[in-house]
Amino acid sequence: MHCRRCQGLMRTETFFDLQLNAEFQGWRCLACGNVWDPIIDENRMPAENSYVPPRPSVPERKEGMTVQVKGKAPAHQRRLVRAE
Ligand SMILES: [Zn+2]
Repeated sequence: MHCRRCQGLMRTETFFDLQLNAEFQGWRCLACGNVWDPIIDENRMPAENSYVPPRPSVPERKEGMTVQVKGKAPAHQRRLVRAE
């Protein structure tokens, strides 16, 4: 087995899980010390039903367009409007 980080040689090693109070077999890279076990992969994978909200879209600002701030609302409530 080769390390995913550095492609170095890995060997099995017995680890101790303090939360489960149990030993388990994992792999440690002889070159970089990277530790791998199946649970690590499981935890790194996103859950099948997890929802990732889309990033808010920011309207593209066209060249030559100027903006002005209306009123004296706090910065987080200000609306940008097109200057005419
Ligand atoms: Zn490695």
